Amino acid sequence: MIDYELVIAGGTVVTGDGQFRGDIGIDAGVIAAVGTGLRGVATIDASGLLVMPGGVDTHCHVEQLRSDGTTDEESFVTASTSAFVGGTTTAITFSTQFKGRPIGPSLADYRARAAHAMMDYSFHQIITDPTDEVIRDEIRALVAEGIRSLKVFLTYDPLHVDDRGFLRILAAARRHGALVTVHCENYAAIGWMTEALLAAGLTAPKYHAWSRPVMVEREATYRAIALAELVDQPIQIFHVSCSEVAEEIARAQARGVKVWAETCPQYLTLTESDMDRPGFEGAKFMCSPAPRGTDAAEGLWAQIRRGTIDVVSSDHSGYGFEGTRGKRIAGAEASFRDIPNGVPGVGARMMLMFSEGVATGRITASEFVRVTATNPARLFGLTGKGRLEPGADADIVLWDAGRRSIITNAAMQHAIDYTPYEGRAMTGMPVMTLRRGVVVMRDGVVTAEPGTGRFIPRGPYDLIEPSGRVANGFAAALFA
Ligand SMILES: [Zn+2]
Repeated sequence: MIDYELVIAGGTVVTGDGQFRGDIGIDAGVIAAVGTGLRGVATIDASGLLVMPGGVDTHCHVEQLRSDGTTDEESFVTASTSAFVGGTTTAITFSTQFKGRPIGPSLADYRARAAHAMMDYSFHQIITDPTDEVIRDEIRALVAEGIRSLKVFLTYDPLHVDDRGFLRILAAARRHGALVTVHCENYAAIGWMTEALLAAGLTAPKYHAWSRPVMVEREATYRAIALAELVDQPIQIFHVSCSEVAEEIARAQARGVKVWAETCPQYLTLTESDMDRPGFEGAKFMCSPAPRGTDAAEGLWAQIRRGTIDVVSSDHSGYGFEGTRGKRIAGAEASFRDIPNGVPGVGARMMLMFSEGVATGRITASEFVRVTATNPARLFGLTGKGRLEPGADADIVLWDAGRRSIITNAAMQHAIDYTPYEGRAMTGMPVMTLRRGVVVMRDGVVTAEPGTGRFIPRGPYDLIEPSGRVANGFAAALFA
């Protein structure tokens, strides 16, 4: 008797809880059964392979709008291609508000661009200007559309929001039911250090790291947590670069604060010395926070095992190295201050985490699944994603754990002309990716059609509910 449209048979199924030999039965793009001896109209033989949830990358800058109406080089089509090659099937990308302008029109523009995606997607809304209209009306409208995460930058001109603006955003998120994600670095400290470095003639890419040492990130992380506690609003700290910062988060978690933490492969695999390459080459490794010293990575791996950091996303940056839209936007002689921060990684994230994490024994395969798929889906309310269970979307990656390869930019298949991971030897790689039960990548060849990705609206969920603990029991400010 044939029970399912498609069965992925005979693989080692890896979930966030464990692994077992088994089959997955799929009907209409949804997982219908997980078991043994399942039979389908079509069968994919997964023997010898790991069968895992497709990656969920909850921090991707894709085709991001700039204030002049242009975008990054990476489009939703090229980013989807790279994601599928790397085993990722869902991403959350960024809609931007520009200072002095409302959210609505730029969100509508961005939605139209995202309609070309092949991967499934949602958005974080960057808030740069928390005007009364934004706080009163536009955040409500976002949530009504199923966009339940707001992004705040505590540094960067012209994006940064001051503490009072941040409090207003936190309170609005609490009222309407959204998570707030935060880029934590001290704006004034970076500006002051940058001025001093440039005055001393220290302009090379490596001084990017000098302009924002660990305490600059640690202070802003502590402050973001304290202000979130004042408002009683759940937050996620983006791109934690080292264990010292994670310790601030661990302390808050221990006292019951709803704060979660993300790190990225660049902080686990790059160091500040990568920025000290000759000429402009170091710019390929510039991101914020900056990669830290050589011993930082082991501390971060320990924080992942401990659970302080429970999400690893790419912070994929969608612009290139050559040309005039990316790293050289201010010319090849530009000081570190004028070189855009960020590195691409949506295609490399899963391989880097598997090779550096699972193949080396730093984390288990189940921990890999949790930090790359299950936890990010749960934290951001992507309820059908990141799980191999009946009822979940059949977003699945088949992984050859022993396959060795070398990362090249060409293999990433993104629209960007470099990868900071060029030449790295990898153990383990995805050989097939399915999105909602359809094979979209086989042996590096992507077959999905543009426009087949879906926007995933997010409803209310438990993790973003306030804890109910408000200073002095005085909640009036939260409802203003
Ligand atoms: Zn980012």
